Amino acid sequence: MATIFSKIVAGEIPCYKVAETEHCFAFLDINPVVRGHVLCIPKKEVDYIFDLDDELFTELHLFAKRVAKGLKKVCPCIKIGEAVVGIDVPHVHIHLMPLNKPGDLNFSHHVEMTPEELKNLAAEIASAIE
Ligand code: AMP
Repeated sequence: MATIFSKIVAGEIPCYKVAETEHCFAFLDINPVVRGHVLCIPKKEVDYIFDLDDELFTELHLFAKRVAKGLKKVCPCIKIGEAVVGIDVPHVHIHLMPLNKPGDLNFSHHVEMTPEELKNLAAEIASAIE
């Protein structure tokens, strides 16, 4: 059965898209831990990041690097943090999060954002990605 992220890539489920390449896709996390929480995924449906072949593993990380650079221009922060969990959704995803203090990368914390705010933020990040 297709994962929720495969359905997003296929356009069957809406998302706040920020970037797309032939093999990778990035969109805002629907339940952001911090403002600017982005997920970078391979379009190919693979559950565990260390099962990706070397080529796609590298491509996904280079894609995440490009997205992170755009994200940092839009969301003022000290650094963009990166995390891989994958317990909830069995489709590889790299979490990117703007960090301003050590506790910011805390999955038990969330920020409230309206659909309008998410839409506008996604558009801003998309235009900042080179
Ligand atoms: P994990 O698999 O534990 O790394 O977490 C899955 C992440 O996917 C969580 O941060 C969710 O908020 C996020 N998520 C789940 N469904 C969606 C969706 N439809 N759109 C955007 N993000 C999602």
